[in-house]
Amino acid sequence: MNLKRVLDIYELIKMELPRTYPRPKLAFFEDEESMLKNNRMRVKKNENVYAVVNPETFTINLPLNMALEYTNSKGNDYTKTVPINKFSDEEIAHTILHEIAHLYFGERYGYESKQYSDEKGCDRFANRWVRKLKKDKLI
Ligand SMILES: [Zn+2]
Repeated sequence: MNLKRVLDIYELIKMELPRTYPRPKLAFFEDEESMLKNNRMRVKKNENVYAVVNPETFTINLPLNMALEYTNSKGNDYTKTVPINKFSDEEIAHTILHEIAHLYFGERYGYESKQYSDEKGCDRFANRWVRKLKKDKLI
C-alpha cells in the first residue's frame, strides 16, 4: 500500500492552501466499516463513503480500501473494493480537500451550520483547489 503518495499529496495541498486554513491530521483505516466504527458513525444505505472528517479530533479519516457501489448494464447493483492507491492523484487530492472544506466551513460558520454539511459546497471548494494544484503543476 503506497501511503507515501497520499501523504505527499497532502503535503502539496498544505503548501498550496493559505496558512489560516485547517490542517487536520490524517488517520488511515483498513476499510470504511472500521473507520466508521472508530468514529462512532453509521453509514447511510446506498451511500459511498470515501472519507470522513472528525471535528472533535480534527482528523480526516481515510479507508485504505473503499467499497464502491456500481450498477451494471442490466441494472444490478454490485460492490467493488478499490484500494486507495488505485485512485488518481487528482481523486486523492479531491477527497482530502473535500474533507478540509467541511472543517473550513465548520470553523467559519459553526459545526451546526448548513455550510458545514453542504456536500456540494465542499465539492466546489475541492474542485477549485484541485484546479489550482493542477495549474501549478503540483499534481
Ligand atoms: Zn462531505
